[in-house]
Amino acid sequence: MEIGFAKVGTPAIAFEISKGNLKFSGTLRKFSRYLIELEAKITGDLDVPCDVCAEAFTHAVNESVKFHLSDGLSKVENESLEDIVEIEDSMIDLKELFESELELYKSNYFTCSECKNSD
Ligand SMILES: [Zn+2]
Repeated sequence: MEIGFAKVGTPAIAFEISKGNLKFSGTLRKFSRYLIELEAKITGDLDVPCDVCAEAFTHAVNESVKFHLSDGLSKVENESLEDIVEIEDSMIDLKELFESELELYKSNYFTCSECKNSD
């Protein structure tokens, strides 16, 4: 699902995409001249390996994310925001953003219920 940068204004545009058992849903809203604010939730089931025993288990995801998109970082060098993601060709690729947020989420530390209980 791709949305042109220029198409996003106020009010916000709602989106929802899914991948397997996971859902990425939220809104895109014009934040400033060269920035769009993305506010979303990642929900669903994710299979991850336990960081203690390495057994795979299903982890319930309920994660809120919020960051800003820019269609050219050079234009926003005066903005004091740290969470800016640069997009290419003035197109917001929600699938790609979802994938990178998922990768980031997977780098968290996970403990299966058995290891959690044996502490
Ligand atoms: Zn474990």
